Amino acid sequence: MKLSEIGEFGLINRISPPFLHDLPEGVVGIGDDAAIIERGNGEALLVTTDTLVEEIHFLKAKTSPRELGEKSLAVNLSDIAAMGGTPTSAFLALGLPRDTGVEWIDEFFAGLHQLAARERVALLGGDTTRSPGPILITITVLGRAPLSHIKRRSAAQAGDILCVTGDLGDSAGGLRVMLEELPVGEDERYLLERHHRPRAHLAEGRLLGAQPGVRAMMDVSDGVDSDIRRIMEQSSCGARIDLEQLPVSPALRSASSHHGWDLTELVLAGGEDYCLLLTVDPSAMATVSEAFREKFARELSAIGTIAGAQGRLELFRDGRPARLGKHGFDHFLGRSA
Ligand code: ADP
Ligand code: MG
Repeated sequence: MKLSEIGEFGLINRISPPFLHDLPEGVVGIGDDAAIIERGNGEALLVTTDTLVEEIHFLKAKTSPRELGEKSLAVNLSDIAAMGGTPTSAFLALGLPRDTGVEWIDEFFAGLHQLAARERVALLGGDTTRSPGPILITITVLGRAPLSHIKRRSAAQAGDILCVTGDLGDSAGGLRVMLEELPVGEDERYLLERHHRPRAHLAEGRLLGAQPGVRAMMDVSDGVDSDIRRIMEQSSCGARIDLEQLPVSPALRSASSHHGWDLTELVLAGGEDYCLLLTVDPSAMATVSEAFREKFARELSAIGTIAGAQGRLELFRDGRPARLGKHGFDHFLGRSA
């Protein structure tokens, strides 16, 4: 059997069982946005790692090295945000072809340093190797969180309200602008910026981590319709998404109508949004959304509920069942039709 037949998540489910057995007490391994290692003082160490591969995650000719350095770190910080934690340090492994320009490398590190300095994340080490082909960037980030603030993917309960912390689909819109080589007006510039410079929702993650009414949380990397399935698997539940509630930026709405894009597909399955997807105890929803609004001067968007049969995702539009042909990006399965 080929990897392409089981896909990324099939692979993870296949390899993980022996590594989930006999873990030391206070350690949570494979299955969440970051591993959790209790430190015995009411705090935990969080560890996460993510790789960016040239041609798969970025196109060298269309990405500035400065933005790439920033993005490589941001996508890892996002996984710490998803746990309700604060990042502290990072390690960077680089695979570079021999003909990589030193100026390109300098710019990459300048971008990485800028974000690291802003978030007070110390680069503590890494590894550098020659790559026979694409540029490979692997970053590991360590973080910390009070144990009581950590939000697991496994904590969702029937009746919870499903929420996201930001607009969806902008990054995918930016990617379309690049791939279709569209002329860049104001909307397109906004979408490109959102694609190249994703923001990890660290402050949002910390605020939501401190709210006992927030149950499960993760970051949106593949697209809501794919990521919600991770919560459904880990929490043994189903979910309902109300498509008309998904938050969309004015730029994406107008660019979609202008360029004839399928807005629902971009918003639901586009991926690389790096906002947070969370479930909230309905009796705490007013408290949580008020705290969010007060701190960030914008709304926490309620997009659906944890409901229905285990493993079943139901999509509704304006109260009626909706059908959709497309799902989130899987690295080995490719996009399903
Ligand atoms: P995320 O998108 O939040 O980084 P993923 O969906 O990539 O998480 O991975 C899901 C889980 O599987 C995570 O806990 C991750 O650490 C784990 N994982 C992914 N690939 C591997 C691997 N090759 N070996 C061990 N664990 C893995
Ligand atoms: Mg994640």
